[in-house]
Amino acid sequence: MSQRRGMKKAVTAIAALSAVTMALSGCGGGDAGADGTRLDANGKPLVKIRVVKNSNTAAIKDMKWPEKLQAACDCTIEWEEVDSSAWSQQKSATLAGANIADLNIRAYYTGDPDQYGDLFEDFSQDLDKMPNVKAMFEQYPDVQEIATNNEGKLYTLPTYKGDAYSTTGQHMIINKTWLDKLGLEMPTTWDELEEVLKAFVTQDPNGNGEADEIGMSFPKLETSQITWYSPYMLLNSLGLVTNFNSSPSMQGIYVKDGKVANFFISDEYKQVTKFLAKLMKEGLISKNVLSQDSSTYTNEMKGDGETARVGMGFAWTPRGGVGNKLYDQYVALPPLKADASQSDDEITWDSSGQIAPVVTNSMAMAADAPNKDTLFKIIDTFYSADMSVESWYGTDYVEKTGEKSYKIKPEKYELTMQPSQLMASYIAPDMKIEGDTDADEQQATDEVYKEYYTHYDHVKDTMPAYVKTKLEDATTISNLNTTIMNYAMASTANWIQGNTNIDDEWDTYVQKLKTTGLDQQVQLWQEAYDTWVK
Ligand code: MG
Repeated sequence: MSQRRGMKKAVTAIAALSAVTMALSGCGGGDAGADGTRLDANGKPLVKIRVVKNSNTAAIKDMKWPEKLQAACDCTIEWEEVDSSAWSQQKSATLAGANIADLNIRAYYTGDPDQYGDLFEDFSQDLDKMPNVKAMFEQYPDVQEIATNNEGKLYTLPTYKGDAYSTTGQHMIINKTWLDKLGLEMPTTWDELEEVLKAFVTQDPNGNGEADEIGMSFPKLETSQITWYSPYMLLNSLGLVTNFNSSPSMQGIYVKDGKVANFFISDEYKQVTKFLAKLMKEGLISKNVLSQDSSTYTNEMKGDGETARVGMGFAWTPRGGVGNKLYDQYVALPPLKADASQSDDEITWDSSGQIAPVVTNSMAMAADAPNKDTLFKIIDTFYSADMSVESWYGTDYVEKTGEKSYKIKPEKYELTMQPSQLMASYIAPDMKIEGDTDADEQQATDEVYKEYYTHYDHVKDTMPAYVKTKLEDATTISNLNTTIMNYAMASTANWIQGNTNIDDEWDTYVQKLKTTGLDQQVQLWQEAYDTWVK
């Protein structure tokens, strides 16, 4: 069985019983008894859980919460640990080979099982057996819709990381130390930003006597999609709401008053592109922006880690953008007006925060798994308050300070090998978690953006995350996206670089995009929007 051999290669860390575990691994109920059970030597249910793990996460045998989980289910759990980098190569083989473990954590995304639905448990009929999961969906109905496919099947259970994580990953950061040193105000318009960037690159604000400052930087335009940390966040300066944490905004799709469109042919896109081309011509943007991938971009932002080099960029948080040593020089830059004549409420900001706490690949079950009542009990234990926190942050780094209050010990953030990782969790609104540095910094960064989220309607002016195109259209949409992105990004790169003039080419560009697929892409998304929203 070649899939099984493939899985062996993928397993990087396995507990002491590895030989036994491997012989039995995967394969759902294939080794169950005729009565639908699989028992250990003591007659207790024997359960197999596959967990896909980050390379910097400790082995399950070194974690403490799995013992509590095992006690709660009164069963024996065999863990199969797969490294996430290996899993990306292995996942399709497990689907094609029907090699689904009893429970699968962070293995399958909503949508993955659509073509293999008969392999997976449809949880939509099981919620009464999992009260904690049911409570999550009652509190956040959108989260259930996000995880539900077009046929109403619920093949994967999501994690909800808590409202503290409901911020977009898309922010602008600016070097406040440089602004202060040069006696400059925080820019509020594109013109003011331009003047600030000019001062940054000509007045040596990092004080090293060298004209080594870069005004603005961002990662290159990728032909696959608009990536994170795109300068096209500036579309929000014109009231065009982006949603760059996830598709389909990353392929240009947006919504205004319930009408779907693609911003690659919008006047707003043209205006942002012209602004970027102007800054480029004036030497205010890094020369590397059309060639550097996201990791090279991050390296440019961080520089040598001692001396700040870049004045303004795009990041999740200041620390995420420029690293541990320089981040206190930077602050979040509030949304800018494209023009001083605009009123404040015309300006918007990226809508991704709404679904940022949702992780859709947290839990899947084999349809033919034995011991299903035990499996439901295990899942519900994962989604309980205590286990949600412990399995995410690591038992030894969680201090319980009240009935539903917890404090994360700061030492956790010093570790290179993490004591656990996000598994399958529900952080409910009545739970209080102190000391989660990531959430705290995201919230602090997002603070200046909050009022801008009130400047638009979150159903009529964005594509809600639960909207899904039809399964049978998936290949068509993928091909349309490729055609659209290849042409739009090549044209845009030339315009920003000044190789060609956007005004000369715009009408031809718009016409070509419309006829080669953009109109059809928009139509398919309009149909999906109408199906799910209306
Ligand atoms: Mg300098």
